[in-house]
Amino acid sequence: MTPGDEVVVALDVGGTGMKCALVRPDGATVHAERHATDAARGPEAVVGTILDVAEGLAGKARADGLTPVACGIAVPGVVDEARGVAVWSANVGFRDVPLRDLARERLGLPTALGHDVRVGGLAEARLGAGRDTGHVLFVAIGTGIAAAHVVDGSAAVGAHGAAGEIGHILVRPDGPPCGCGRPGCLESVASASAIGRRYAELAGATATAAEVADRAAAGEPLAGRVWREAVEALADGLATGQALFDVATIVIGGGLAQAGPRLFDPLRTALRERLTFHREPRLVAAALGDEAGCLGAALLALDTLAKESR
Ligand SMILES: [Zn+2]
Repeated sequence: MTPGDEVVVALDVGGTGMKCALVRPDGATVHAERHATDAARGPEAVVGTILDVAEGLAGKARADGLTPVACGIAVPGVVDEARGVAVWSANVGFRDVPLRDLARERLGLPTALGHDVRVGGLAEARLGAGRDTGHVLFVAIGTGIAAAHVVDGSAAVGAHGAAGEIGHILVRPDGPPCGCGRPGCLESVASASAIGRRYAELAGATATAAEVADRAAAGEPLAGRVWREAVEALADGLATGQALFDVATIVIGGGLAQAGPRLFDPLRTALRERLTFHREPRLVAAALGDEAGCLGAALLALDTLAKESR
């Protein structure tokens, strides 16, 4: 075995699909494949697919003359990284699944289990848009909103595996109901799905968040109002994040970041208006796209490997 042959088996499991890859220690992807999660089959079947795919990837690595040295798996929901347990997930249905040990037994490789957004933040902070800046807040805005606070290349997990739930910061006490059961959370106002919902409510027509951004830019008053409401709420949430974490860089990822300057220009201004003595963070778009989860799962696995061999 030579160091250049080493790869990590990496999986990023989402509600609809799994992004899977063989990743070199320097973050280069040597092979990538995608599989359907098909969560409707239930968590046991999903776990079966995860293990089969991971085993297949390790086999593919060996067949290609590479040496799989570890396995990293990212999942959504509440994740206990220390115990390697997928504690709870709304969209995949996990309830206390000891996924790390199951994968370790099946593959015979050191395995790490991480949270999808936290490992995504890890990858953006170390290899992507937050590289070389030390303190990074990664915020993924899609169907929901979640964040990862990364300090010197390591993402805070929290006492219960639930750090970074910035989507559930209360920003509008009289606002729309949130999936968590309380009204007015940030993601009930500013997630991509919330923007679409609000536009439908006011305009009586359906539109995606991207379409709302386009229509707002074209001067449509209702779209402009919905977009402005979302940007203001996001700025409230990010200002709270900055008060708590004092980061150098905020990296925005997920579907909403695709709006580019239509999001970043007004958001930067609104955030600046809310900061008093706090230093203004650099506000940038994520650089790794939907590969971040897979790369981050690989980084987490390598970190675990380094700790175990110490
Ligand atoms: Zn909530």
